[in-house]
Amino acid sequence: MSDAAPTVFTSGPGPIQLDAEAIAARVRALGAAIARDHVDAAPLHLICVLNGAFLFMADLVRAIDRPLTVDFISVSSYGSRTESSGEVRLVKDLDQSLKGKHVILVEDIVDTGLTMRYLLGYLEGRGPLSVKVAALLSKPARRLVEVPVDYLGFEIEDAFVYGYGLDVDHRYRNLPFVTSMVGGEEG
Ligand code: 5GP
Repeated sequence: MSDAAPTVFTSGPGPIQLDAEAIAARVRALGAAIARDHVDAAPLHLICVLNGAFLFMADLVRAIDRPLTVDFISVSSYGSRTESSGEVRLVKDLDQSLKGKHVILVEDIVDTGLTMRYLLGYLEGRGPLSVKVAALLSKPARRLVEVPVDYLGFEIEDAFVYGYGLDVDHRYRNLPFVTSMVGGEEG
């Protein structure tokens, strides 16, 4: 440990700025809404889409004041870093059954909607009681297919964002805020 002053870790360079306090307040509200909507005794099961949703998931489950279980799934979509091709491949499957459970799929961002459409089809085929979607971010201007987002953190304009779990080539996931690129470059 050094005694040096901490580096500035509160905001990024881009026009889109979601600071840690704004994210925390929104996540608390989503957690409360999920708890309110699932007062019956059926099991509540949250599925985190790795890697981007890991921080959102960690905060969201702590904001849901009722028993629940968690699982993790990982998919990769073919295509470039910023353009999804719509072809999705399962990289890590679920460990637990979905039978008889209320499932909430937890995503970092819904962009074209192609990944979400694939995941919803995959989950529906595994016999859950219900499936809903929680997404931290949505870029509606980019949507190619309509997908339901039952619990949405923030709607944002069409820009590549990073931080709070979202990466730029595997970096910046640990930023406590979300920001956007400036002129195609991260700050
Ligand atoms: P979709 O299939 O909806 O086009 O893309 C979904 C996935 O693309 C997200 O789960 C995320 O991994 C990635 N993605 C889409 N937009 C962004 C963005 O602005 N920033 C980052 N870091 N990833 C994004």
